[in-house]
Amino acid sequence: MADRIEGVKKLFTSKSARVETNKGDAYYEKLFEKCQARIEELKTQQPINNRLDITDVLEMQGIERRDFLKWASAVTGMLMLPASFTPLVADAALLMNRAPVIWLELSDCAGNSEALLRSDGPQIDEIVLDIISLEFHETLQAASGHQAEKQLEDAMETFKDKYLLFVEGAVPLGMNGQFGTIGASGETMHDHLLRVAKHAAAVVAVGSCATFGGVPAAAPNPTGAVGVMDVIQGKPLINIPACPANPANMVGVILHYILTGQVPELDSLLRPKFAFGYRIHDNCERRAHFDAGEYVEEWGDEGAKNNFCLYKVGCKGPMTFNNCSIVRYNEGVNWPVGVGRGCIGCSEPDFWDKYAYERPMADAKIKAPTGGVEKTVDEFGLGLLTAAGIGIGIHAVASAVAGKKEDGGEA
Ligand code: SF4
Ligand code: SF4
Repeated sequence: MADRIEGVKKLFTSKSARVETNKGDAYYEKLFEKCQARIEELKTQQPINNRLDITDVLEMQGIERRDFLKWASAVTGMLMLPASFTPLVADAALLMNRAPVIWLELSDCAGNSEALLRSDGPQIDEIVLDIISLEFHETLQAASGHQAEKQLEDAMETFKDKYLLFVEGAVPLGMNGQFGTIGASGETMHDHLLRVAKHAAAVVAVGSCATFGGVPAAAPNPTGAVGVMDVIQGKPLINIPACPANPANMVGVILHYILTGQVPELDSLLRPKFAFGYRIHDNCERRAHFDAGEYVEEWGDEGAKNNFCLYKVGCKGPMTFNNCSIVRYNEGVNWPVGVGRGCIGCSEPDFWDKYAYERPMADAKIKAPTGGVEKTVDEFGLGLLTAAGIGIGIHAVASAVAGKKEDGGEA
């Protein structure tokens, strides 16, 4: 409990990952030239195995070029690049089949692979993901057994030091890794990961399990599961957490790599700032109700019917960094808070043990606000200086006590 409180304190009192959206003309001019040269070079290369042409696929789906360019413009903004980069981003999307991707599944539920697959009416993000040259994906490919192993060997050899390695799932380390083995030789997931990562250009951990251990690492964590960043050293590593990771963020990372040949700017948890530089709470459509002290007190009450803030029924939006309140899910139709369910902080470390309760965090009273409401909200997200905030603090403590009684232990 003491460790957990310390962890929460640290999280609550740390400065938010500030997103620098303007780095100055000189920076962008240099970057533009660099990206232009890279795109020109990629154009001279042949597609790898996937020869699907994105323009044909867009046409088949009835998506006009104008819509594609609108999408490219939106993605340019999402990647925090000036609008002048839009044609380069569109070109990068057309060249997605120049980047070989190997995808491993370790200790997981395959939810991120599900997110990678499209729905009936694929959007441009999903079509772009179809264009990547997915050289190996145990769950999606037809090959199995020894054939699958050979396919992996071939892909690693052919694209040595060039492939992006996407990893889904946690890495079980318990009993020398014996909790998770792969293939006829019984190779542990840990060894499998190290072997395939050795010649990757960069490693991308996708989803909460691969990034921070997720559900497999929840207490008491009998398999000793950890995230990829705990075992991979000396490689560029990008974390795209969330349960599941948003396909828009996967597209963003690959596009950025195609465009610049580099990993995007990352926060201290190795998450791309373009996607995780925002707090859920700061872009939430219920935020005005939070500031006005209007809360859902219990499921189905008048507050719920009026779309009031979900903080008191456990929303962890004030402590969670992710762009789902902006990008949303399911073709951009909606997102958890939009449909009346509080955020459970799935893109933060240790979320299952720390956040996934239907009550506010007991430790919310830890914060020490020092300024006006906006400053407090920016630094901390709760605004305890307001009458509403004081109410929240009291409510949080009461909930924690109730939680202790219910659980018969730690809240
Ligand atoms: S606490 Fe949750 S529901 Fe309320 S404004 Fe913040 S993110 Fe939105
Ligand atoms: S709203 Fe919160 S719990 Fe839901 S997907 Fe976004 S970060 Fe995860």
